[in-house]
Amino acid sequence: MLSHPLRLRRLSSLLPLRAAYPNYINGGPSPTAETAPTFSPGTGCAVAEVAASSRADVDAAVAAAKAAFPVWSATSAAERGRVLFEAARIMKERNGELAMVETIDAGSVVSETTTAHILGAADAFEYYAGVAKTHASMGEFYGGAQQSAGAGPAGKTMDTFSYTAREPLGVCAGIGAWNYPLLVAAWKVAPALAAGNTMVYKPSEFTPLTSLLLGEILAEAGAPPGVLNVVAGHPDRSTGPLLAGHPDVKKISFTGSTAVGQVIVREAARSLKKVTMELGGKSPMIVFEDADIENAVGAAMNGNWYTQGAVCSNCTRVFVHSSIKEKFLARLVERTSKIKIGDPTDPEMQMGALIMPPDVPSGHFDRVAGFIERAKADPSNTLIYGGERVTVDVPDGPAGKGGSGGYYVRPAIFDCSSDDAEIVTDEVFGPVMSVLTFEDEDEAVRRANASPYGLGAGLMTKDLSRAHRVAAQLQSGNVWVNDYNISLSEMPFGGYNMSGYGRELSLHSMDSYTQIKHVYVNLGDVDSSLYPE
Ligand code: NAD
Repeated sequence: MLSHPLRLRRLSSLLPLRAAYPNYINGGPSPTAETAPTFSPGTGCAVAEVAASSRADVDAAVAAAKAAFPVWSATSAAERGRVLFEAARIMKERNGELAMVETIDAGSVVSETTTAHILGAADAFEYYAGVAKTHASMGEFYGGAQQSAGAGPAGKTMDTFSYTAREPLGVCAGIGAWNYPLLVAAWKVAPALAAGNTMVYKPSEFTPLTSLLLGEILAEAGAPPGVLNVVAGHPDRSTGPLLAGHPDVKKISFTGSTAVGQVIVREAARSLKKVTMELGGKSPMIVFEDADIENAVGAAMNGNWYTQGAVCSNCTRVFVHSSIKEKFLARLVERTSKIKIGDPTDPEMQMGALIMPPDVPSGHFDRVAGFIERAKADPSNTLIYGGERVTVDVPDGPAGKGGSGGYYVRPAIFDCSSDDAEIVTDEVFGPVMSVLTFEDEDEAVRRANASPYGLGAGLMTKDLSRAHRVAAQLQSGNVWVNDYNISLSEMPFGGYNMSGYGRELSLHSMDSYTQIKHVYVNLGDVDSSLYPE
């Protein structure tokens, strides 16, 4: 790979970081027997010591959540909403600090974390703050019930009625991925707490910092001790299984890879825990011949380059009509080549560093680079832009020894002639876009749907009839027309097929953190005429 040295600003002077991040259990910091360093992908340097949670820590967190459940579930929905609203206010007030911590921990540029990640998390809290009260009032009522032939004397009208109540589940577990850590946490914590559950949240081992701060924020907002507990994972990844397998956990909301999701579902089946699975994807975007080229290029860039390409719903397969392909590619390359890559804490930068797993710092980079090299070697693909490593000079370097920090990759654009090429079928979770060509609508829909996943799909056209016709045929939990990767707190987000099941955000997520109770009321005498004296 070619090398392009860039300068990285000295991070140490900017850090809003603490030296240590303990777990947050039962309303306060909770020390652990072991700690481990967390690394900044931007520099490759260790930036803080973080809890490495053992079985005892998970047990303590679940016990705290269990003890808090009777109080929190009996707290009025209005009061729960007020706590969540206050948490959102604190998050917005601390946006600058939280965004910088996120940037240092996850490697995404601060222009993205300040505008999208932290404010998106606050928005979810605001939404569920409002929803808490409404949702609690959304039961069903059935009056003047007539018993069926099987349940009593046929046709006899009883002086009865029925209603349903939605009740919280108890202790819920949230397990998150590393790509936009606070946002992933917020999508789970806010609806779980709004519905009256308590939660133990485990962020990714790679990016624990803002989730640990969320524990503090909720406490400051007025959540009683134990309502939200945050345990950071052990670097050997043993913490997630301990939490997912805990007998007192009633539901697991998981965001991560399809492979780990399958393991968790198998484990959950043993005690019939409820599960929500937000998994991987290889999503398509179809650019029809009448699309506005600038908008199509902009949507494809938004849907591939955010978070260094580590977004589950990214449109990594872009199908472009043959008549506009050359124009589309020319503008795509022109605009992509202007992306500034480097120090994620620099507000000028538009793409940051790939995540650095602490055990194998080059692990994710090697994976992404491996995909790029194999795609280059496959004659069905032509690399038309990028794909090389970008080296960024770090003045004080890892451990103060100077040298090159972090793993940065120039976004890669491949022109692909086969839908079966590895780069077209497999999730890379890095900045790699495959562009494919099609001739007609049916063909585009068929090829777009030819994936085991089904998380996102996009289409660009000025033809309204076609937009709805194609949207209806795409096998995906989210379809964006003339845009891409827009998620709204008010609307559901989730996948079809191997991208998972259950939904985050919206009332659907609230539903998933509750169970339905049917209450039947008889105001008269019990009809036991089948059993006369
Ligand atoms: P991962 O599956 O490796 O890990 C996710 C989390 O699961 C981590 O916190 C990890 O510690 C934990 N974990 C690992 N093994 C476990 C086990 N056996 N039991 C319980 N927990 C366990 O995923 P990742 O590398 O962190 O994230 C990348 C993946 O996440 C990609 O596939 C991406 O598409 C997906 N993702 C999906 C969404 C979505 O909303 N659908 C959002 C972001 C990321």
